[in-house]
Amino acid sequence: MESRVKLGHIWGIPIGLHPSWFFIFGLVTFSLAVGYFPDEYPDMNGAAYWILGAITSLLFFGSVLAHELGHSFVAMRNKIPVRSITLFIFGGVAQIEEEPRTAGAEFRIAIAGPIVSLALAAVFYVIWLADRNVSMHLAAPSVWLARINLILAVFNMIPGFPLDGGRVFRAVVWQFTGSLHRATRIAATMGQVVAFGFMAWGAFALLAGGVFNGLWLIFIGWFLQNAATASAAQSGLQEALRGVTVSQVMTTECAHVPHRLSIKELVDEQILSGRPQRCFFVDEGDATRGLLTIQDVTAISRDEWNQVTAEQIMVPWDQIQRVTPSTELLDALRIMDRAQVGQVPVVVGEELVGMLTREQVIRYVRMRSELGL
Ligand SMILES: [Zn+2]
Repeated sequence: MESRVKLGHIWGIPIGLHPSWFFIFGLVTFSLAVGYFPDEYPDMNGAAYWILGAITSLLFFGSVLAHELGHSFVAMRNKIPVRSITLFIFGGVAQIEEEPRTAGAEFRIAIAGPIVSLALAAVFYVIWLADRNVSMHLAAPSVWLARINLILAVFNMIPGFPLDGGRVFRAVVWQFTGSLHRATRIAATMGQVVAFGFMAWGAFALLAGGVFNGLWLIFIGWFLQNAATASAAQSGLQEALRGVTVSQVMTTECAHVPHRLSIKELVDEQILSGRPQRCFFVDEGDATRGLLTIQDVTAISRDEWNQVTAEQIMVPWDQIQRVTPSTELLDALRIMDRAQVGQVPVVVGEELVGMLTREQVIRYVRMRSELGL
């Protein structure tokens, strides 16, 4: 999930808002300002309801952020980097970069978020207790925040992957079966059951006349269904690639081209030749200066092909991530992901031995599945 609005960093993790967040923020503020606070405080004026609504709504999303920071804190304690935290229409998501290595770590990371939500519910409840007979000004917001944090904790503990409860469940199955893959399959199936449960509930609510609640539940169910399917697919891919190294998949057939070669010549002599190439090492004398792929070529317009040379559009060698033949394929994919590139050169020391591209990985996975492996 890409966040568009960047809010800053906490513990080095970029925090951001997805555009859909503004919709939910507006909706929560609206329902507080128009429904909840006028019921609780009948004597205030209109603007005060909106200000109180917005502040309470912000505190709610602060609570969601704290929940995600809970997951992130434990992930980082387990040496797993967190790429970002994004608030969006259904709450928050912490992008944790890799699967935990043990069932115990998975369990602790998953449970940390609901524990933070429970703790916040308790804090707001105590504020409500302290204030309800004194000034009353904090009572209505704090009891609402206590309730919503409790709901957040309980909702997230529903045992359907990718909800936190599903992750906790997966950790337990993982612990007992010793297989992350099997645990993920079972948890993802449960996740789909939960997702269809939400959709069915939404359909009943719709039929009963609750249009908004009905649509909302269907929407949540649909989101969970997609997420569960994606995690099952991801897990299948990881299982297929486990133990496979770069050397089994890489190509050693990249061409070397001189740095002053024009793109026109490159296309005519290399790309459209009898043995078409898709990647090129750009050399100056004996040294490789950079890397060029078909994508780089297609990025410039055809009438410039005569003037532009290989070295002008290559990615310079020192800016390129590299892998070795013995790098695990999954780690190589992660490196490409992080650098947002479709290929990495394979090196032994300083010597270039081949190239790994995303298409090769896809082809490899397809071949394995065709062979029924
Ligand atoms: Zn969570």
